[in-house]
Amino acid sequence: MKVDPQFLTSLHLGGEFDAQRCMNCGTCTALCPLGVEILPRKLFHYAMLGNREAVLGQEEAIFSCLLCKLCESNCPGGVHIAENVRSLRTYLNREVHGLAEA
Ligand code: SF4
Ligand code: SF4
Repeated sequence: MKVDPQFLTSLHLGGEFDAQRCMNCGTCTALCPLGVEILPRKLFHYAMLGNREAVLGQEEAIFSCLLCKLCESNCPGGVHIAENVRSLRTYLNREVHGLAEA
């Protein structure tokens, strides 16, 4: 794993990114109707670690999120999960695909 110390800062450019409030309880992943293991707990964990490559490798999962907030409304940490996913999409669109906005 290669750590990118600027990655987390870059995510904030796409909006609020408050994954640091995550308590790693796994409720979100258990409730997510998509049943994708990486969403959203592991994904945020990779982001917090600055593991840019691991996050970029999950583009399909990031764009598959329904933004339904089922996870968010049951998150004991009060993490703004849908907004964080939007920030990841914005990052991907901007930094990887050269697009202006998500
Ligand atoms: S439900 Fe909230 S606190 Fe629990 S793992 Fe998911 S984001 Fe973290
Ligand atoms: S907002 Fe996304 S990650 Fe959360 S439950 Fe809905 S589809 Fe899953």
